[in-house]
Amino acid sequence: MDKRDLDGKAALVTGASKGIGKAIAFRLAEMGAKVAVNYNTSGDAAQEVVKTIESNGGEAFAVHADVSDLEQVSAMVDQATKTWGSVDILVNNAGIIDDGLLVRMSDDAWNRVIATNLNGTFYCTRAVLRGMMRNRWGRIIHIGSVVGIRGNIGQANYSASKAAIIGFTKALAKEVATRGITVNAITPGYINTDTVDGLQQEQKDRIMTWIPMGHFGEAEDIAHFVGHIAGTKSSYVTGQVISVDGGMAI
Ligand code: NAP
Repeated sequence: MDKRDLDGKAALVTGASKGIGKAIAFRLAEMGAKVAVNYNTSGDAAQEVVKTIESNGGEAFAVHADVSDLEQVSAMVDQATKTWGSVDILVNNAGIIDDGLLVRMSDDAWNRVIATNLNGTFYCTRAVLRGMMRNRWGRIIHIGSVVGIRGNIGQANYSASKAAIIGFTKALAKEVATRGITVNAITPGYINTDTVDGLQQEQKDRIMTWIPMGHFGEAEDIAHFVGHIAGTKSSYVTGQVISVDGGMAI
């Protein structure tokens, strides 16, 4: 792939202040895209991401929005569009967990996870879609999860949100296929981030038995694939769910 394949394209990466989203922002910038670095609570971390991109010769700005809030999402997309004229690549990465067995799950834990992971994906995607349709070019990439495929004890809310993203990916891919817009989902397995670092050793050991490759992945493993699917040469791949999980979904 041409190293500067995304020169002239503008990307919006949600939840890019840390973890997987940050690695995706770096990867797209490395490929030449200008990147809007979305954050919710970690403004300083998002500014650091921007500084790093700029110090490597790229263009970026940090933009606040809670993706579960329709008005904030609209304002974020307006800002990105006014700054760069379009949003050509959207990566719906922002996501949260709020685990617990269903029998004890609060309404709040259910609603927060669905609101961020699923409604946020809907709001951000709808907000950029018209511009992509007008330009007859777009890349929409959702970050799902292996847990949306396999399910996981204590994660009915999270599994439901991530499984829904798979249906959303396939339906939308069909809707916009003739407009030069591809819609795909990447489903990570367990990736070394704050979320996974926070697991107890006993949980990590149990999870490891589910991973054929026998180790967790890195944020860059996901970012690499996002870059690949965002690339100009990936124009004939749509509606796909691509597992980057060390074989866990097999
Ligand atoms: P992380 O390190 O906890 O980072 C989460 C990011 O999402 C942060 O930048 C956070 O922003 C942002 N975010 C959370 N709620 C938001 C909201 N309402 N509006 C805007 N941004 C919000 O998470 P991660 O592990 O990198 O996960 C990234 C994505 O990959 C998630 O969708 C997750 O479900 C998925 N995933 C992760 C793994 C894994 O093993 N790590 C596995 C499968 C799937 P602020 O800090 O600014 O609030």
